[in-house]
Amino acid sequence: MTRVLVVEDEESIRMALVDVLGSEGYTVLEAGDGNAAVEIALREDPDAILLDVMLPGRDGFEVLRALREDRLTATVLILSARGSELDRIQGFEFGADDYIVKPFSTMEVLARLRAALARKGGSTPGVNEIDGVNEVHFGSVTVDFRAYSLVRSGERHGLSRREMDLLQFFLRNDGETLDRMKIVDAVWGADEAPTTRTVDQHVMKLRKKIEDSPESPKHLITVHRVGYRFVTHSEA
Ligand code: CA
Repeated sequence: MTRVLVVEDEESIRMALVDVLGSEGYTVLEAGDGNAAVEIALREDPDAILLDVMLPGRDGFEVLRALREDRLTATVLILSARGSELDRIQGFEFGADDYIVKPFSTMEVLARLRAALARKGGSTPGVNEIDGVNEVHFGSVTVDFRAYSLVRSGERHGLSRREMDLLQFFLRNDGETLDRMKIVDAVWGADEAPTTRTVDQHVMKLRKKIEDSPESPKHLITVHRVGYRFVTHSEA
């Protein structure tokens, strides 16, 4: 389990981040000020920290410096409303891995977090590349595993962790007919026990992103009464 500490004094932003990270399978810790952030980080040693700059008590940069002095190796993404170059440089000098300017979307934060964890060779939930390859092309689609997104006909679509896991499973089994239970086992695992309906819902979402016309799919084919077959080379 990848553990992420969210440090943010604005409760609405903190809650939004905590919610989205939790729903993506991360274990989430939270702090509302700089002193609590240092205390929790030293005690819990999280894999990643989303760190607001303007905080009560110690500010984000002081927090970061304190953590690095204690040799904490967590991946740190700085969240700040102040987008000036000075802040940027200051952040990186103290060892931040990335810098996100407010206002941001939670999808952007997720994508940047995954990318930063992948760069560090850290543990992102799920697999984030196939056999060392970070990009795969099929049809009019380019999949970017690190950024958890794909581009189809020039348009970028973000992928949830589950959608990415599912797409990777299909890519690994190119041309094979896969029954729904096999897909459930491979992508969701035994402990989450989703229904086969969950598979169908995720396939529908994925089709909207990878297919030029999702109603008559060329890559993600329904195999009646069984499941699905994914083909990189369009059968039509
Ligand atoms: Ca703040």
